[in-house]
Amino acid sequence: MPNLGSDANLNVNTKVKLMEERLQQALDLTQPCRLCPRECDVNRLDGELGTCKTGIEPVYSSANLHFGEEPPISGFNGSGTIFMTGCNLNCMFCQNYPISQLRHGNPITVEVLAALMLDLQGRGAHNINFVTPTHQAYAIYRALILAFKKGLDVPIVYNCGGYESLEMLKLWDGIIDVYMPDAKYGRDEEAGKLSNIDEYSVHNRKALKEMQRQVGVLQLADSGIAQRGLLIRHLVLPGELSGSDEVFRFIAEEISVDTYISLMSQYFPAYNAVTHKLLQRPVSREEYRTAVKTMKGFGLSNGWIQSDKK
Ligand code: SF4
Repeated sequence: MPNLGSDANLNVNTKVKLMEERLQQALDLTQPCRLCPRECDVNRLDGELGTCKTGIEPVYSSANLHFGEEPPISGFNGSGTIFMTGCNLNCMFCQNYPISQLRHGNPITVEVLAALMLDLQGRGAHNINFVTPTHQAYAIYRALILAFKKGLDVPIVYNCGGYESLEMLKLWDGIIDVYMPDAKYGRDEEAGKLSNIDEYSVHNRKALKEMQRQVGVLQLADSGIAQRGLLIRHLVLPGELSGSDEVFRFIAEEISVDTYISLMSQYFPAYNAVTHKLLQRPVSREEYRTAVKTMKGFGLSNGWIQSDKK
């Protein structure tokens, strides 16, 4: 029997109560900011900015129905995807760099963020999918309380880079339905050089374990839409820079062989990747095939691989 996570299928009223009780703890994590493992020594409530250069109020880049996510996330009506501006990582190859690194976006209030969620639900979204939520967790927390009070009841997807604070993740217990984190690197040396972060794999592994504890293996409704669970994304980088073997070993041995994995082949040289000798080309068919083979070799067969690179 696969692990289905903690018993946290809570009704909306219970979620709101829990979140209101935890709100002060979420605020405390911003002063000084410990919303991610960088633990910048800045008080965001006083307007000080850390590495993510983001204040205390929400900033977003777009809110739309998205049909390009994994099948149980996009479904047939689309995923209610809200791209949060900025990022707590500084990946030199970021595929999304205008939003994450150049911070193209609009400051809004938590009331507007709540209204965006309700609008997406009204347009038929299967879920509300926060892309890069980590550094804006406190703003999202406040907005979600408002949205729940006004009738938001679709699953909440936390779609993150996987460099997470365990303290903040615990405040999401019972609130987030689907965790969709990256497992970007199997080795910290590459993470430091390419994303300017310390001990990515240490923090990533702790985060994945906590997510698995909270929500367990991905569960789909009869319609095929994700209701709850963990879905891990791994982008294969050229020259084995993503350390795929170590990522798969960890998932198989310490999370579960039942874990759903989205193994992504779409890497292209973006942002500052052209300055790196291995990152300035796409992933080869052979490299992707090797990653697929390694993943299967660890007994990991749930999830999605990309057919054009099979
Ligand atoms: S969320 Fe931003 S300010 Fe806070 S610790 Fe992370 S990078 Fe620093």
